[in-house]
Amino acid sequence: MSDESESGRLWAPWRIDYILGAKANDCPFCTGWDAGPGVEHLVLTKQRHSMVIMNRYPYTGGHLMVVPQEHVNSITDLSEEAYIELMLLLRESTARLVHALGCHGVNTGINQGEAAGAGIESHVHIHLVPRWRGDTNFMPVTASVRVVSQGLDHAFGMLRPYFEDLDAG
Ligand SMILES: [Zn+2]
Repeated sequence: MSDESESGRLWAPWRIDYILGAKANDCPFCTGWDAGPGVEHLVLTKQRHSMVIMNRYPYTGGHLMVVPQEHVNSITDLSEEAYIELMLLLRESTARLVHALGCHGVNTGINQGEAAGAGIESHVHIHLVPRWRGDTNFMPVTASVRVVSQGLDHAFGMLRPYFEDLDAG
């Protein structure tokens, strides 16, 4: 990929059409936001500017993501109000995840941009991955997906009560 196309992408006026198109058609976070809390899109709670959604391809059981409403690719693009709500929801979600699962730790991370390894690079999100003493750092991802995915509906039903009081009224 040439430098020219990379730099052009930063300011190209047509990008807004790309963003709006992605929002309408392809982005699971925008789709989940529009649907609101529920098992279909694994949305655990939705506030004014941000929501908590379960990862459909989790690294481990209880792998959540805290996501702003805005379809932007970096937290630097969020308004102060949206950013503050996102961070408060991150704190609440961490506490509730630990309470619900009894995990011994939580890995928290944001992959901002394709080069940083973001899977859905155009809509920024914060991963929360619960950890237990003695679990492995190198769990085969395919095995983990297979085992955990079968229980997603069940896991949603278990976690949702811990988050539903956070829903925007
Ligand atoms: Zn989106």
